[in-house]
Amino acid sequence: MREWEKNFRKIEPYVPGEQPKLKDMIKLNTNENPYPPAPGVVEAMEHFDVDKLRLYPDDKSDNLVQALAEYYHVKKEQVFVGVGSDDVLGMAFLSFFNSEKPILFPDITYSFYEVWANLYKIPFETQPLDEAFRIHKEDYYKPNGGVVIANPNAPTGIAEDLDFIEDIVKHNQDSVVIVDEAYVDFGTRSALSLVDKYENLLVVQTFSKSRSMAGLRIGFCIGNEKLIKVITDVKYSYNSYTMNQTSLYLGVEAVKNEEYFRTNLAKIMEERTRTIDELTKLGFTCTDSKTNFVFATHKDVPAKELLAMLREKHIFVRNFGSNPRIANYLRITIGTREQMDTLFAAIREYLQQ
Ligand code: PMP
Repeated sequence: MREWEKNFRKIEPYVPGEQPKLKDMIKLNTNENPYPPAPGVVEAMEHFDVDKLRLYPDDKSDNLVQALAEYYHVKKEQVFVGVGSDDVLGMAFLSFFNSEKPILFPDITYSFYEVWANLYKIPFETQPLDEAFRIHKEDYYKPNGGVVIANPNAPTGIAEDLDFIEDIVKHNQDSVVIVDEAYVDFGTRSALSLVDKYENLLVVQTFSKSRSMAGLRIGFCIGNEKLIKVITDVKYSYNSYTMNQTSLYLGVEAVKNEEYFRTNLAKIMEERTRTIDELTKLGFTCTDSKTNFVFATHKDVPAKELLAMLREKHIFVRNFGSNPRIANYLRITIGTREQMDTLFAAIREYLQQ
């Protein structure tokens, strides 16, 4: 090995879900929304002034921050936006987790947390979920350098109620508690109502799932003004122009149409109930998901076999094989009714063979 190679930062990267380039596929592997973005976004896109691309975007993301502050009834100084919630979470890890003490998060959760901890050399200690994939909140009452909870959790889909989250925040007033609410709009009470009560709470959300805009990459966090000042300083020390012109322009439109938003959420939640019923009839056990995906294991057929069979039919779902506790589960995004019917038919046919 050459001398300079020894200085490389070696990191086991996060592996995102596959983005296959097939035309005739049913893509249920990365929790995208099957419905288009709000009509206002589509219309705004048609009127986008391409000349804007000559210029650097607004480094303060002022219009988008303003729109979010109004929508969530907080001050502009309490809002920070980033390139998807991955960017916001990564910046938050870098900004708030700088202690010798380990940060705490569940052993089964969004696998990116461990990657950021390794990347930024943040000590961490995972806390085991119980057999029903539930968080044991007392595990988070010990000294720590920070806490990260995805609520609902991923990939289990299980949500904890607001009192439970508040207990964790309340017991950790000496560290920052990040609540990752990527899936909160699909039926969970948000911790946003607590940000004025607890200075140490940062709530992170995204436009990728409930607002059908994964391709645009918009995420945001809301918290106390002190937290937002620190994360903003860190952002300016890394890349001042994070949000591109199109994201800033179209993002504002995405929060305008509440009726369209609620209608889509209702359709997805209804389809989730039907999916759990259908899969249960086919011999699966599903968690009580409060997200836009289900987490299911079959009584006889290994998850990997089903994944491969579905893949052959160009139906993409996801499996997290590297963690033995969940290796036999499939995470299946809720698609349209037609897409889900095709999935059920494929599984039914395979099981009857
Ligand atoms: N948090 C969780 C729990 C997720 O599942 C995801 C999606 N991979 C994200 C954050 C990041 O989503 P995005 O960067 O698209 O906002």
